[in-house]
Amino acid sequence: MTDDCLFCKIASGKIPAQIVYEDDQLLSFEDVNPQAPFHVLIIPRRHISTLNDVQEGDAALLGGLITRAAQIAKEHGHAQDGYRTVFNCNRGAGQSVFHIHLHLLAGRNMTWPPG
Ligand code: 5GP
Ligand code: ZN
Repeated sequence: MTDDCLFCKIASGKIPAQIVYEDDQLLSFEDVNPQAPFHVLIIPRRHISTLNDVQEGDAALLGGLITRAAQIAKEHGHAQDGYRTVFNCNRGAGQSVFHIHLHLLAGRNMTWPPG
């Protein structure tokens, strides 16, 4: 827990969020400013600022975020039509909250390349 981290506060329940999944390692909640009809974030409970700070020992945790994203997409009916998963790393890529989070977006057609 990092005192000034918004997502640590969501993970600990100090700040409310619309939780769609949680376990002892990670949680998923609705993005407050959705960029698609379905837009949730999947985060580890443990504070890691950016993908640059991930260690080799975090591989299972990171894999857990991705497999959970796929499971959530499936449960919400988006597996067939498709969905996008995104980690933004640092400000140049659009990261604004410095606690790693996997975006899961679905419910509309996505364009490529991303903006
Ligand atoms: P980033 O820009 O860092 O990749 O993504 C951060 C995301 O967190 C943004 O999509 C933003 O809308 C979302 N966000 C920012 N503050 C809050 C909040 O207080 N609650 C929730 N649920 N999402 C937030
Ligand atoms: Zn944090």
